[in-house]
This record gives sequence, C-alpha cells and structure tokens, in this order.
Amino acid sequence: MKLPKKLKILSMEYRIEYVDNARDADWGDGEKVRGSVCWDEDTIKIFKANRGIQDIWRTILHEVLHIIIWTLSIDATSEERYAAQMSAAWNSFLWENGILKKEDPQKKKNEHKKKN
Ligand SMILES: [Zn+2]
Repeated sequence: MKLPKKLKILSMEYRIEYVDNARDADWGDGEKVRGSVCWDEDTIKIFKANRGIQDIWRTILHEVLHIIIWTLSIDATSEERYAAQMSAAWNSFLWENGILKKEDPQKKKNEHKKKN
C-alpha cells in the first residue's frame, strides 16, 4: 500500500512529508526523531529510511494521535505515553484486520495477466 501524502484528521487536511534523515523529521532543534507535527503548516514529517511499512504507519498514527489529542483537548496526563500506546494498539488493530495491508506483488501480476 502506498504511504499517504495527505490525511484528513477531524475535517482538517494535513500534508505528510517523508524524509530520509531522522534530524529532518524534527521541526524543532533537529533532534533525531521518527516523526513530528508542524502546527503552523498543518504538516506531519515522517522519517522513512530503512523502516518497514508497519513501523512507518505506527509513527503516522502516533502523530495523528497528537493532533487528535490537541484538537479535542483530550486530557492525557502523559500525552507522549498515551500517543505511543494508542498508536501501537491502533496499528496492530488496522494490520491484523486487513484494513492496512502490504501490496501483494503476486496478486498484481495475476490481475495484469487477466487483463491481457
Ligand atoms: Zn509523540
């Protein structure tokens, strides 16, 4: 499955930028991070290099959760911990139920064969 270039979260559109250097994923001091949200630009940055698709999705969900927590003013005592646990839980739910899935190259080949 292709990684999204934008996502709607609570009716707001956010752009997603994928970067190959973990320092470029940080909006602040250029720390090495897996992802971050730039509130001023409605953009999520995700570090992508040498990571599996499921791991990348966990980071996308993590940043989405930060946006949801902030937008709805959810009272999370430890926002970071809440986002980490919920993103892990939702990621597992979405993959285990086939809502998110890896592209099956074999299936694509067969579809191509059928058409011709
Ligand atoms: Zn976080």
